[in-house]
Amino acid sequence: MPTYREILAQVKTEVDEVDSIETRERLETPDAPLLLDVREHDEWQEGHLPGALHVPRGNLESRVEALFPDKNAEIVIYCASGARSAFAAKSLTELGYTNVSSLSGGFTDWKRNGFDFETPRVLSPAQRSRYARHLLIPEVGEKGQQKLLDARVLLIGAGGLGSPASLYLAAAGVGTLGIVDADVVDDSNLQRQIVHSTERLGEPKVLSAKRTIEALNPDVRVEAFEERLTSDNVDRILGAGWDVIVDGADNFPTRYLVNDASIWHDIPVVHGSIYRFEGQVTVFQPGVGPCYRCLFPYPPPPELAPSCAEGGVLGVLPGIVGSLQASEALKLVLGVGETLTGRLLLFDALATTFDEVIVKRDAACPVCGEHPTITEYVDYVEFCNLAGRGVAQ
Ligand SMILES: [Zn+2]
Repeated sequence: MPTYREILAQVKTEVDEVDSIETRERLETPDAPLLLDVREHDEWQEGHLPGALHVPRGNLESRVEALFPDKNAEIVIYCASGARSAFAAKSLTELGYTNVSSLSGGFTDWKRNGFDFETPRVLSPAQRSRYARHLLIPEVGEKGQQKLLDARVLLIGAGGLGSPASLYLAAAGVGTLGIVDADVVDDSNLQRQIVHSTERLGEPKVLSAKRTIEALNPDVRVEAFEERLTSDNVDRILGAGWDVIVDGADNFPTRYLVNDASIWHDIPVVHGSIYRFEGQVTVFQPGVGPCYRCLFPYPPPPELAPSCAEGGVLGVLPGIVGSLQASEALKLVLGVGETLTGRLLLFDALATTFDEVIVKRDAACPVCGEHPTITEYVDYVEFCNLAGRGVAQ
């Protein structure tokens, strides 16, 4: 009965071996070999060769043909020391692979030579458990969850739309949420603004939201901007670096300001608005689709566009629209699916219908068009008042 050492020595005579120095040189060339790591999961997590694929030795035979359909491809297999990879190389040769070799000395020798390796970031056990339902979705998975944890989303307003949007983004593990709002919690807010509560009456909304969000998910950091967004502070606030803006503003001057600033800062905006039983959602992606001004070059006259404070709103409506905004924001961060870019989604809660209007970029748009006429911040309150009265045409 041969010993393990004898079998290993025998296998090593049957497979090709390459060393770290040669492999590293080959990786720099255009016809670099594919790298296959056959170590266990925890070894892989502690560091691996850049660009390597990982299949633990135990799953190798069952998974290799799906991963490497070309049996003539050049594959360098490695493990920690070169033993498991030798057996793996023999096994692949038996499966019909023609150009397989084993890295002698394995990852240990690679590191000893001082060559580069990658250490994957990993979710903590608590995070694996918290985001378990995301990890099950192929479009999210561990990589997507890391993207969410690294993401920075700015919410304009901690009101009706900002409440559900911030809660769901926080629950999803979006690592940094910026919230801009100058108001304090009022008892008339609580019919819909679920991020706040009765005990927070009189408290600044950004601080109330921060407390709720950080209690929901300790992975989330809230950057609170207790101020009204204006032409004077918008560059400072947007300049803090955001992947997505969720616009839950309840007034036209802020919407136009957010629009212009987001184009100049090149940040996609998930827009939402609500009135009584009706809601609208869309995505404005600078350079990709239309902007708010392409859709609405001028705001409507104030009497035709009452705010929620003037016209009222069904309490649950912002819950639906703000959740749709959160969904769009998550897709933008993950880079999956089709966003509402170029589509205006209309929701009617009374009839329970969704309609969709295709919206196109306007080449003559004063901000995102071919020959922009607005290139710096204007007085947005004045713009809306004049435009509303039909003056600014
Ligand atoms: Zn535009």
